[in-house]
Amino acid sequence: MAGYDYDLFVIGGGSGGVRAARVAAALGKRVAIAEEYRFGGTCVIRGCVPKKLYVYASQFPEHFADAAGYGWTVPEASFDWQTLVANKDKEIARLEAIYKRNVEGSGGETFHSRAVLVDRHSIYLVAEDRTVSADQILIATGGRPAPHPALSGHEYCIFSNEAFDLKELPKAIVIEGGGYIAVEFANIFHGLGVDTTLVYRGQEILSRFDIDLRRSLHETMEKKGIRILCHAVSESVRKTAEGRLDVQLNTGQTLTADQVMLAIGRIPNTENMGLEGVGIELGKTGAIVVDQYSRTNIDNIWAIGDVTHRVQLTPVAIHEAICFIETAFKDNPTAPDHDTIPTAVFSQPEIGTVGLSEDDAIKRYPDVEIYRASFRPMRHTLSGRDEKMLIKLVVDGASRKVIGAHILGPDAGEMAQLLGIPLKAGLTKDDFDRTMAVHPTAAEELVTMYKPTYRVKNGERV
Ligand code: NDP
Repeated sequence: MAGYDYDLFVIGGGSGGVRAARVAAALGKRVAIAEEYRFGGTCVIRGCVPKKLYVYASQFPEHFADAAGYGWTVPEASFDWQTLVANKDKEIARLEAIYKRNVEGSGGETFHSRAVLVDRHSIYLVAEDRTVSADQILIATGGRPAPHPALSGHEYCIFSNEAFDLKELPKAIVIEGGGYIAVEFANIFHGLGVDTTLVYRGQEILSRFDIDLRRSLHETMEKKGIRILCHAVSESVRKTAEGRLDVQLNTGQTLTADQVMLAIGRIPNTENMGLEGVGIELGKTGAIVVDQYSRTNIDNIWAIGDVTHRVQLTPVAIHEAICFIETAFKDNPTAPDHDTIPTAVFSQPEIGTVGLSEDDAIKRYPDVEIYRASFRPMRHTLSGRDEKMLIKLVVDGASRKVIGAHILGPDAGEMAQLLGIPLKAGLTKDDFDRTMAVHPTAAEELVTMYKPTYRVKNGERV
């Protein structure tokens, strides 16, 4: 190892790469990490963090409206997009500095440069115009929004990256896609007062989630005033004489907007990095193929996070980084555990979910019990807001294990995190039942639904 400049060289300074670099450096390894854009990666710079800040920003109009029922008179509010963007930028810069400092504070070296593999132990740093060597190399370059070359006029469209920093808030926006990003941004823009239309090719938004959540969220979003067009795709985007955009849909409809945002998935960043030259195997979408320990087909080169296209979530990348350190540097081969991952969609209302949807459970288990409660959360009583909360548990009738928990409503993301623990631990519905309720909360429904709403036996609802 002494023959190399570093024990570990990490390419990509996002959540996964930074965690691996930090922990390896703290172990006393000689570590360097290269990032060509900004330390923090998608999550911190143009993903989860700014998104959540914008979600908060977009919720204020409802808070102001709800206040009246509680006796408050709120003077007419106004919103300044530029202030939000500037304040977001300040917070992101603060976090970026922390990410970099964390690596350096642990004894790692940071480079602001694109890094290209020269051979299995050599990395060319473009900004420095020099080549360094490392015993182990970790690729954590993440992903980026999937382009849509088939859409005529796609060059007029933006992605989530640009949505954060628009010069001005559009009057109207069309968002293509029905996944996490499309749904979250539809709620953000609508909350900020933008006329918002979601165009989704499938039958119901959020195809990977429980159908009850999907339908209820759809209904609530439409009630708020968001237009959701299912079974629809954009066929062309054209600039109008007024400088706006006309979106022609396959349904014959034409929508006019100031921005069109594409949110049709994300693809791995693997181009022009020298991967092919070194012989690293890539999958169909360009993702780096890895084994269960995140090792590529070249045994000293590893890959974690979105670049491997396994589960595109920040905590998963961080978990994969920790497992990589155990395997590569602690002689403790540890495969990341991708089972029963809690997740949230920061829609309005929020979705929090862990485990199997009802439909997936029915395919795997012959006897499934569904416990379901739909109610108006207490905070919406005095406010008069006509919005329901949904709580649903999916239970395997044979083992009594809770195999799915799904929530739509305020703080559902926070609840999903806590529900991740009993589901991961394999606790049963009886464990839920003997847990004392916390009153008055919405979450108490989780431990007070004693009788199944219905059962599904061999695919038949009884
Ligand atoms: P998703 O995979 O969640 O959704 C992509 C959407 O685009 C789906 O509705 C899909 O339809 C649709 N789609 C795909 N191809 C086309 C096409 N050619 N034309 C029209 N529609 C198309 O991806 P996102 O871009 O929303 O987000 C990427 C990932 O980032 C997520 O999967 C998630 O892992 C992560 N993320 C997580 C967040 C969180 O944790 N809160 C927030 C944001 C992102 P269909 O359903 O029919 O396939």
